[in-house]
Amino acid sequence: MEKNIFEKIISKELPADIVYEDDISIAFKDINPQAPIHILIIPKKRIEMPEQITNDDEVVVGHLFYVAKLIAEKLNIKNGYRLVMNNGESAGQSVFHIHLHFLSGRKLSWPPG
Ligand code: 5GP
Repeated sequence: MEKNIFEKIISKELPADIVYEDDISIAFKDINPQAPIHILIIPKKRIEMPEQITNDDEVVVGHLFYVAKLIAEKLNIKNGYRLVMNNGESAGQSVFHIHLHFLSGRKLSWPPG
């Protein structure tokens, strides 16, 4: 199966500004940031969409949220952050390898557009 763009970042075939990496996940700055801090936290395992998550993935997907906490500590973020995962094109998903958006550094409105 051909690698998707995020798998090429995982394998370092494509460059990215990596802020965190471990055996399960990698986190890097979004190329088109929607906030002063916009980081994508992704599993190294290929899961194309949230709707494809299985019981076997519970630890992996939960780990992404733990990594978000570690990043917030590392960046000394005190004023809040938002974690978003889009499922499907109408929800805004454009890369089909699940990713948790970590957004911070400005006042975020609600509801999102
Ligand atoms: P989605 O729209 O699927 O929820 O989010 C995909 C995100 O990936 C977008 O915010 C987009 O800017 C980001 N993105 C797409 N291609 C690349 C890339 O090659 N490098 C990085 N760092 N971010 C990317």
